[in-house]
Amino acid sequence: MTELRVPVLYCDMDGTVRHGFDELGRFVNGPGDVVVFDGVPELLARYKAAGWRIVAISNQGGIAAGHVNERDVRAGMLETQRQAGGAFDKILYCKHFPAADDPEMAVCWCRKPKAGLVIEGALALAEDTAKRGAPEIYPPHLALFVGDRPEDEGCAEAAGIRFMPAAEWRTGKHADAL
Ligand SMILES: [Mg+2]
Ligand SMILES: [Zn+2]
Repeated sequence: MTELRVPVLYCDMDGTVRHGFDELGRFVNGPGDVVVFDGVPELLARYKAAGWRIVAISNQGGIAAGHVNERDVRAGMLETQRQAGGAFDKILYCKHFPAADDPEMAVCWCRKPKAGLVIEGALALAEDTAKRGAPEIYPPHLALFVGDRPEDEGCAEAAGIRFMPAAEWRTGKHADAL
């Protein structure tokens, strides 16, 4: 069986899809803090309509650092998905933090700028679609990564994916060419 080659939009969350520290004056600590940027649901819908898959990739080291509990992080992700019109095919986050005491919470392959969650996301999507009998693969040269921080750009580079700064992406101009 031949796999369909499908582009993926990998999105940072805080400061990219939803208001982050710069907008809120604090980190997103739970669903009550979630404010998706104006225009982003419509922009994500344009990618979906053009056949893209959409995967969120977020560093949530506050879990390992003890600033926030994972249940609240997950609830915040679900609220983000709701405000985004259900656009995300996968929402993945790293809960690790380099300064954590427990090495299992300090050392990982998923904290951006590492590329682990990009690969996990693509493999999970491929598995889902294979199970449905319509297998897809996600060549990095077709993908786009959007984010607001240097670690996002580093993650994109590590994964071989084109990067676009969040503020530029939210203008929506490039989406005319989808
Ligand atoms: Mg960010
Ligand atoms: Zn991690």
